[in-house]
Amino acid sequence: MGNLVAIVGRPNVGKSTLFNRLTKTRQAIVNEQAGTTRDRQYGKSEWVGHEFSVVDTGGWVVNSDDVFEEEIRKQVSLAIDEADVILFVVDVVNGVTDLDMAVASILRRTKKPVIMVANKTDNNELQYNAAEFYKLGLGDPYCISALSGSGTGELLDLVVGKFSKEGEELLDEDIPRFAVVGRPNAGKSSIINAFIGEDRNIVTEIAGTTRDSIYTRYEKFGFDFYLVDTAGIRKKNKVNEDLEYYSVIRSIRSIENSDVCILMLDASRGIEGQDLNIFSLIQRNQKGLVVVVNKWDLVENKDAKVMKTYEEAIRSRLAPFVDFPIIFASALTKQRIFKVLETAKEVYQARTTRIPTARLNEEMLPLIEAYPPPSNKGKYIKIKYCTQLPNTQVPSFVFFANLPQYVKEPYKRFLENKIREKWNLSGTPINIFIRQK
Ligand code: GDP
Ligand code: GDP
Repeated sequence: MGNLVAIVGRPNVGKSTLFNRLTKTRQAIVNEQAGTTRDRQYGKSEWVGHEFSVVDTGGWVVNSDDVFEEEIRKQVSLAIDEADVILFVVDVVNGVTDLDMAVASILRRTKKPVIMVANKTDNNELQYNAAEFYKLGLGDPYCISALSGSGTGELLDLVVGKFSKEGEELLDEDIPRFAVVGRPNAGKSSIINAFIGEDRNIVTEIAGTTRDSIYTRYEKFGFDFYLVDTAGIRKKNKVNEDLEYYSVIRSIRSIENSDVCILMLDASRGIEGQDLNIFSLIQRNQKGLVVVVNKWDLVENKDAKVMKTYEEAIRSRLAPFVDFPIIFASALTKQRIFKVLETAKEVYQARTTRIPTARLNEEMLPLIEAYPPPSNKGKYIKIKYCTQLPNTQVPSFVFFANLPQYVKEPYKRFLENKIREKWNLSGTPINIFIRQK
């Protein structure tokens, strides 16, 4: 299970500088595929074989000197709820402030590992200043310079050393994991209750999972899947509900641990920032997607034209990834509830599709021959063979070419679209790679 590291602290101590340093290498790889704009707050990092996610809790608020103490308090309690390790950043140049004391007093109460990071220790003399931070009661301050990177390697050693040693849960790998995500009041709890129904017996205890397991197994009407983090959805943290980014951070764990995300939208409201942020997390993690337009019962005029307008609006907001199913449903009246499950199952199948190499070449090579990649600097580009890579998270295809560096994005999109046309891959991301023959 993925670990989550949260960076907290008052404004201007260097949280976002540290975030960039911790996520830099991985970021480049992830962005290549997703091309998202929301990179400041959430990123992937890897250190000595540990992969983990990093969130900069400060990244969600406007960075100004007069950020309310109340806001920071909420950020910190959210980090305590969600993260596995908390990095509390302070600034050796400015020393201890009232806001640092306020944050420290909340952090002293948690059992989660907290590392106090004394940032801006750009030289040895500044190291002496760090002694001041002992009075925050959080143990040794850990001196780094996020700007130059000094000390960050040792900091990462310390971070991964704090990760829980608990083994992976014993889940059946062939059973899909669905996560229901969306902003507050979209209807997540309602739809989960509609799935599970009154008959609580169908929710079986899973052998080999811990007490805090985030998986619930569901078996009914020919469906068999894990719902990710349903307990977390039932147990709402009302204090934080009003925060714009609350449901986004809250979704990270569920999304990372799922195969397919059921993204709940509220038909009575437009798509807003929080919806886009959650969508972006789904994309960044290359998860399958089913969009549910919930509360469809509230929409008075439901003819096909209205549906089409909704659909187009959603697809244009979520572009360029547009090949995913949209279901108009009501958790309240249970309209199309099973359609949602059925579709999530189809997306899971799409995500795990294996196209035999012979079939793939049979379909794709004639198309490539008819529409070859445009020649570059007078050189012809030939693609002679393609295959699907085994054991990947999402369907990934390699096309072998004589001059792979000249095959550009638009042509890769052409190949992707053709594959999507030939095989039903709705709801799953796919990867296209061009390699040297
Ligand atoms: P945040 O508000 O906590 O996210 O802080 P930022 O990362 O935006 O940094 C605030 C300011 O401190 C910026 O001008 C950074 O360049 C600077 N800064 C960050 N880390 C260091 C460091 O290690 N040394 C020095 N000298 N400046 C730093
Ligand atoms: P969550 O915060 O995403 O878990 O949302 P809830 O499931 O708690 O629902 C928020 C509110 O919307 C509650 O008052 C629900 O009764 C209501 N609600 C949920 N689904 C529907 C629906 O399909 N139609 C209508 N009319 N109300 C709904």
